[in-house]
Amino acid sequence: MEIKNYLEEIVIRIANDLIDKDKDFCKCNKCRLDVITYSLNRLRPKYASSLTGHALTAVDIESDQVQAEVTVQILRAIEQVKEHPNH
Ligand SMILES: [Zn+2]
Repeated sequence: MEIKNYLEEIVIRIANDLIDKDKDFCKCNKCRLDVITYSLNRLRPKYASSLTGHALTAVDIESDQVQAEVTVQILRAIEQVKEHPNH
């Protein structure tokens, strides 16, 4: 059985997007990963098994509310990593 946190995909996508738009943010892999892990640790995970069907979870994941929540957390993470870079 396969269990997956579907939030990972959306966090990685939005984080890379926001990092690319931020001219002051370091573009190294370590800083990118720090933003992603910081955000994932603070967001409620959305686990689903392959048996419950990806479709339903995917709709939920793409909702405006989830995207807004994720974006706020990622912006916070970017500020944190900027102040305390770990590379
Ligand atoms: Zn860096």
